[in-house]
Amino acid sequence: VLRLEQVRKTYGGALVLRGVDLDVAPHTVTALIGASGSGKSTLLRCANLLEEIDDGAIFLDGAEITDPRADPDAVRRRIGVVFQAYNLFPHMTVLDNVTLAPRRVHGVPRAEAQERAREILDRLGLAGRAADYPDRLSGGQQQRVAIARAVAVRPRLLLLDEITAALDPELVGEVLSVVRDLKDDGMTMVIATHEMGFAREVADQVCFLDEGVVHERGTAAEVFGAPREERTRRFLRRIV
Ligand code: ATP
Ligand code: MG
Repeated sequence: VLRLEQVRKTYGGALVLRGVDLDVAPHTVTALIGASGSGKSTLLRCANLLEEIDDGAIFLDGAEITDPRADPDAVRRRIGVVFQAYNLFPHMTVLDNVTLAPRRVHGVPRAEAQERAREILDRLGLAGRAADYPDRLSGGQQQRVAIARAVAVRPRLLLLDEITAALDPELVGEVLSVVRDLKDDGMTMVIATHEMGFAREVADQVCFLDEGVVHERGTAAEVFGAPREERTRRFLRRIV
């Protein structure tokens, strides 16, 4: 679904991604782990064309999206993104938040968009919340609405960046369980996370980023159970 080839990204001269290769197969979950500043968010932002890369190439379903002739809006329509801070529209109800992109960007008729949104909200445990405004919801509920909104356009790929980092500990579980459900539905996801237990449980592929390169990759069992690289071992020792 997604492939990165030797992606390099600099911020004002600082090399943040130093040749990242990544391959994400359909219906798999890839977890990006690594210390703060290792480049996880930058990688996700590049994949969604929120950042321009300096070198290398990114492919979505085999087509190069970093080609100057590619249409960034068309790409973003096929990639759902959820960030740490749930950026819901505060002046819109939950239902309007979730139906906005399908209606405005994808031209789905209102009734159909609403029906689909209610289905998704149901599945994410937000059935009774459609008419509420975001400030009436808990952080966990808001984050689940943000996921519902990302899923509503039926993206090819979902990028999740530290979606539980801003939540109180007791709310983390409900959001992670939504991710688990999406995985069971076959959604392809790339997840940057500091939740190692969750990464280990849910990820098909784990990539350990260190100073802007994928230092080690493998299955969750390989990377967490038997890391080959000393740096990976050191990182895991420090945080687990
Ligand atoms: P965290 O675990 O804290 O979220 P991360 O792995 O997501 O970290 P990034 O946010 O990708 O790390 O940052 C990688 C590096 O790029 C850091 O050194 C950061 O300071 C730098 N950086 C990120 N965004 C910008 C920006 N907009 N301008 C300049 N430097 C940036
Ligand atoms: Mg980050």
